[in-house]
Amino acid sequence: MLTGKTAVITGGSRGIGAAIARAFAERGAQIAILYAGRTEAAEAVCSDCRALGVNALAYKCDVASFDQTKETVAAIRADFGNVHILVNNAGITRDGLIARMREEDYDAVLDTNLKGTFNMTRHCSGLFLRAKEGCIINMSSVSGLMGNAGQCNYAAAKAGLIGLTKSAARELAAKNIRVNAIAPGFIATDMTASFAEETIARSIPLQRMGRPEDVAQAAVFLAEAEYITGEVLRVDGGIAM
Ligand code: NAP
Repeated sequence: MLTGKTAVITGGSRGIGAAIARAFAERGAQIAILYAGRTEAAEAVCSDCRALGVNALAYKCDVASFDQTKETVAAIRADFGNVHILVNNAGITRDGLIARMREEDYDAVLDTNLKGTFNMTRHCSGLFLRAKEGCIINMSSVSGLMGNAGQCNYAAAKAGLIGLTKSAARELAAKNIRVNAIAPGFIATDMTASFAEETIARSIPLQRMGRPEDVAQAAVFLAEAEYITGEVLRVDGGIAM
């Protein structure tokens, strides 16, 4: 159970992040979600969480911004008192072949997916140190493990997240702060809405795309797994085994 914990989930308004928010709320955690622009969706996730009996608030914040994330973490501290769990889940894709990729598409993906995780970890780490406990879960991807044609920016960011995860895990373990990553495969969300599900399913050993709830189950496991740190947990139907 996560009763008595406050969890911050970036990208909590939709898809995988929304499923994690609901799953954590079911286990009694207070919920703070960050989102980029879809206020209505974020508020709907908070309502779902509150219906489960926990406090839940949404914060509009660009995770790529060092200053915005600093202000938002301060606001969360003022609203909730402390933070025990951070899920760095916010992410975007701007796919394209290397030979044609625009510089701004490369930078946007690195800034949101990789630097966003640094920003949030940087600003929450003081709270974890004060609480003498912490759990950070970073959302990587099988693209970061295997590479993917057309996703050099995304795969670089997701592979970078694994290095960030393991370095932070080594640095913070002595302070009772665990840092792990999840590497999802193809999960049915807005991010993959343009994919032909049947074609993709044929390439997956378990023969179906994942559901956001499949990833949320792994996040709950890692949030509760007190002796696991520096791990990368694949939730991919076997695609990257
Ligand atoms: P999604 O449905 O597209 O949702 C993305 C979420 O991130 C939304 O809540 C969005 O907020 C938020 N967001 C985007 N840019 C942001 C920014 N700069 N600052 C704050 N929030 C931002 O994505 P998803 O499929 O659930 O993916 C979640 C994570 O899992 C991502 O890191 C993704 O790379 C990773 N992942 C996904 C898959 C997959 O197959 N879906 C596979 C592997 C890894 P708004 O709603 O306000 O726009």
